[in-house]
Amino acid sequence: MHQMTLAEIARGLADKKFSSEELTKVLLARITQLDPQLNSFISLTEDLAIEQAKAADARRANGESGALLGAPIAHKDLFCTLGIRTSCGSKMLDNFKAPYDATVVAKLAAAGAVTLGKTNMDEFAMGSANESSWYGAVKNPWNLEHVPGGSSGGSAAAVAARLLPAATATDTGGSIRQPAAFTNLTGLKPTYGRVSRWGMIAYASSLDQGGPLARTAEDCAILLQGMAGFDPNDSTSIDEPVPDYSASLGESLQGLRIGVPKEYFSAGLDPRIAELIQNSIQQLQKLGAVIKEISLPNMQHAIPAYYVIAPAEASSNLSRFDGVRFGHRCENPENLIDLYKRSRGEGFGAEVQRRIMVGAYALSAGYYDAYYLKAQKIRRLVKNDFMAAFNEVDIILGPTTPNPAWKLGAKNSDPVAAYLEDVYTITANLAGLPGLSMPAGFVDGLPVGVQLLAPYFQEGRLLNVAHQYQLNTDWHTRTPTGF
Ligand code: GLN
Repeated sequence: MHQMTLAEIARGLADKKFSSEELTKVLLARITQLDPQLNSFISLTEDLAIEQAKAADARRANGESGALLGAPIAHKDLFCTLGIRTSCGSKMLDNFKAPYDATVVAKLAAAGAVTLGKTNMDEFAMGSANESSWYGAVKNPWNLEHVPGGSSGGSAAAVAARLLPAATATDTGGSIRQPAAFTNLTGLKPTYGRVSRWGMIAYASSLDQGGPLARTAEDCAILLQGMAGFDPNDSTSIDEPVPDYSASLGESLQGLRIGVPKEYFSAGLDPRIAELIQNSIQQLQKLGAVIKEISLPNMQHAIPAYYVIAPAEASSNLSRFDGVRFGHRCENPENLIDLYKRSRGEGFGAEVQRRIMVGAYALSAGYYDAYYLKAQKIRRLVKNDFMAAFNEVDIILGPTTPNPAWKLGAKNSDPVAAYLEDVYTITANLAGLPGLSMPAGFVDGLPVGVQLLAPYFQEGRLLNVAHQYQLNTDWHTRTPTGF
């Protein structure tokens, strides 16, 4: 049962082969049995899950249908869930029970999805390895000595290990696509503004975007359908109609123009990954796509720009966690300053503190023009590169990451080494474009992802290309040994 995709579950539920309650119980038992190896969950919501599953079964018995009605999922632990701990992977919020549901959570619940729990993540979504979580590192089911990627590492590890078919995640600089690549999943970061950020604890507001993590493009289409849409509670939400994503999965790739940026194949890319990317290009050519070399000349400036903008926004967003308005409060403060200092010092981990300091520095008078303003100008150049490229091509293709998943602890002493691994993913966030990562093969037994980028609101195109590829390849069907 645990091998079923969301699409298969929807068919099985519709055909009355099993009930949502039965399936939910099987998966909850599987999580209890296997998750101690992975640490992919921060909280399990068994009672809620059984209650939601029973309600979904009753709705089906009353003649209702829907791809998510009775489908078990989990939420990254930065989506607020009413009355349930929403920790953001931080000691700061270990005691925080959200007073409301995030829009994404509410929409999926209304569609009948069943919440099994809240997944582990890098603290405040800062990281690429899921090692900065206060609840401990998450292990990669493909090799328990390696990281699953981050910051949505818990969602990724859980889905990859078949603990559940799909999960929500968020992507500020790659946190959906990179863990998807590291764990052999399909993950989609939508266009900025496509999915509501209301109730999604903010890291860098102008970059954050929620999206689906699943095994197939078909399943990402189903989950995105339940997440996307205009939300008046989010002032950056865009009032565009949501297309039927599953209906966009049948299109031929004949004549599809795929751009491959020459800058992607630089010295930093593992040559074995480069080879797998070439294989995926050939596969898509066989399906009718036309390949064109393109250039994204400002890509080299993207990492420094991102690592100014994201911390700057984070330093502002995280100011509310001060032990007064929100978050952990230290014992016996001597005065107000002592309360702030110790509460924040105790509540935030090292990486979060580093980013707050970098961000506050970049925003401070005298440095604003040199860092923040310059980074914003680079951001515009990165966007312009994409706009020029999309005049010539329909999709941009390349690796999701320069290397496969590294060993736990390997980059702990050198944060910049980890930042450099984000080189292929962060440009889409800077430009606000949609991006998808899908399985493209293995290196030393570790999964490798290929990334597809598309113009604004072309999520359907990304999902269709990935679906056509998955109809003709079987990388995405591989299961990690032991799961
Ligand atoms: N690795 C990037 C960072 O740490 C991206 C994280 C994310 O997308 N949330 O900022």
